[in-house]
Amino acid sequence: ADATALLLSRVRDVPDHPEPGVVFKDITPLLADPAAFTALTDALAEISLRHGATKIVGLEARGFILGAPAAVRAGLGFIPVRKAGKLPGATLSQSYDLEYGTAEIEVHAEDLTAADRVMVIDDVLATGGTAEASLRLIRRAGAEVAGVAVLMEIGFLGGRARLEPALDGAPLEAL
Ligand code: 5GP
Repeated sequence: ADATALLLSRVRDVPDHPEPGVVFKDITPLLADPAAFTALTDALAEISLRHGATKIVGLEARGFILGAPAAVRAGLGFIPVRKAGKLPGATLSQSYDLEYGTAEIEVHAEDLTAADRVMVIDDVLATGGTAEASLRLIRRAGAEVAGVAVLMEIGFLGGRARLEPALDGAPLEAL
């Protein structure tokens, strides 16, 4: 509970970003506070190990900042899921719907195999579209889903419900 209070106290609400009416959850104060960043890293590593993950997938870009140190702490490999067109090798890609238009994410095909059990890490679960697409990528690679772990879940956007079918019983942990 103390750790949760520390983390919450280091997330800043930025009204009307990136557009009017949206309150953006800014995690940069948390990243700048070593006690908070360490507490978050430790919590994400513990969740990953508790759910039997063998690899951590981080979602571009803030999922890289949180997922990479958690992977090192947990002693697990880190796999980046990137926006389309960034990864140099052979990729699997998955498109998904946004409010206006579509987006596409990719992973190196050779990074995930049937032997892997994967924890997906990101900072914020909003509509759940990005995390859902990442779960599809992981399953299409033949790997197992250990779960999804985020710092925060914006409850009223319904991301948890959207993610449920793709989770197929795996946990969604929001700190
Ligand atoms: P979703 O696909 O769940 O709608 O959006 C999640 C993605 O957008 C995540 O990768 C997350 O980093 C970013 N995102 C959406 N809203 C916020 C927010 O309020 N704060 C932060 N830090 N990221 C957000």
